[in-house]
Amino acid sequence: MTTYGKNALILGLTTCFGSAGLAAGVSAWFAPLPQPAWFMVGGGAVALGVIAASFPMVLGRSTKRDIDALTNFARTVAQADSESQTAPPRMNGSLSQAARAMSQTVRQLTQEINGLHQNRRELELTSRVSEAERRNLEAILNAISDGVVVTDAFNEVTLANGAAARALEFELEQSLRRPLEEILVDSRLVKLIKDTRDAGPAMRRSVEHKLRESSTYQVTTTCVGGDASEKASATGVVTVLRDVTKDKEIAEMKSDFVSKVSHELRTPLSSIKAYIEMLIDGEAHDEETRVEFYDIVQNETNRLQRLIDNILSISRIESGVVKVHREPVSLPALVAECVEVLQPQAVAKSITLTEQPYPASFEVFADRDMIYQATMNLISNAVKYTPDGGAVDVWMDVDEHDRTVSVSVKDSGVGIPADDLPNLFQKFFRVQSNNKVAKGTGLGLNLVKHVVETVHEGKIDVKSEVGVGSTFIYTLPIADN
Ligand code: ADP
Repeated sequence: MTTYGKNALILGLTTCFGSAGLAAGVSAWFAPLPQPAWFMVGGGAVALGVIAASFPMVLGRSTKRDIDALTNFARTVAQADSESQTAPPRMNGSLSQAARAMSQTVRQLTQEINGLHQNRRELELTSRVSEAERRNLEAILNAISDGVVVTDAFNEVTLANGAAARALEFELEQSLRRPLEEILVDSRLVKLIKDTRDAGPAMRRSVEHKLRESSTYQVTTTCVGGDASEKASATGVVTVLRDVTKDKEIAEMKSDFVSKVSHELRTPLSSIKAYIEMLIDGEAHDEETRVEFYDIVQNETNRLQRLIDNILSISRIESGVVKVHREPVSLPALVAECVEVLQPQAVAKSITLTEQPYPASFEVFADRDMIYQATMNLISNAVKYTPDGGAVDVWMDVDEHDRTVSVSVKDSGVGIPADDLPNLFQKFFRVQSNNKVAKGTGLGLNLVKHVVETVHEGKIDVKSEVGVGSTFIYTLPIADN
């Protein structure tokens, strides 16, 4: 074959395979493009090859130079990447028109390829942005303490957070794209979500819902979607679950507290009112009766004062606003003082109140007034709930290893039934069977517990047997020197 023939063949094949290869390569690179576009690119390239291959045969030897130039041009096009500009060969001969047409086609293809490159970069960018947004949304949802479940128009879960998975007991990873009823065992909740979805956009429901025995949730379902007037445009439901168990407990405790306080205040007040009215109406005819009435009024007033003081002390400790004045306090001296102050009450009931003095001296770092109040409450209860002629013993023990000191108050009194022991330190709790023995408010032991455990990080304990007696023991850390 002559050089001319070879060149013609190379030009034809190179252009054909080169352009087709370029088109195929680009086609693989831009796979998401619609098929017709690839037919256009590939077809153009093949057509160029065929035209180029046909020219030499038609035009003869005189175009040898032009064909060589075209061959080189075709090679350059085949090797060029989509970004580079390929200049057409300079030709004077009869193939110059074909070369220009080829060049034009190459330019168009290059532009298209560049455009496709640009589209691909934009698509990649958009996909990275939406992935980042999705992760962001997940992180925000998981940071929320309320449970959130998002369902779509087909009632399938599209989004949920950890709090929802824990509250509703489902596996978060396996919940996505699954029907609601497969995820949630609570059929009432499933119905609520579906009903909200059926009610259409802008529908919002909020109900109190019990999950399991002990937890109460405020469940708010909101139907989200486009047009509020069209039910069909609802895109899904956002369900938010807020644990209101604690709030409900607190609300119940508050109303319970208010009713108990009112009751406790009313009893002494009614008594004071009645005796004062009798005194005003002159129903106390002699001095002895009048003194008796005055005593009752005074006792009830003291009871009222104790009640109010105790309520205030407890609520200050509970709300954390109590001012604690810690100082080194000699516990043996403090206990001895309490015993001395209560001795007259014990004597009045012929009760032997004894304190076993502790040989060594040690101090606790505590609020003296509070510990004094707690110790007084325990010893006065022991005297109160011990029948005449009984005994009350008070002593201390030091645990050198734990660096703690305990104060024990033991009586030979009426005792406390085992069933009542777990409730003994609750506010307003009074042992029914002991109510006849002495009057009280049921706040004393609650205050002792708060003073010892909440304020001084100590411990209060009780052992008791009905008809035998009780022993109350509180333990405090010893102050370091
Ligand atoms: P109260 O003002 O009723 O005495 P407390 O909180 O001090 O209130 O005591 C709660 C209840 O515990 C009392 O009502 C009483 O029934 C019982 N209690 C407390 N201390 C003793 C004790 N040493 N012996 C028997 N019962 C006691």
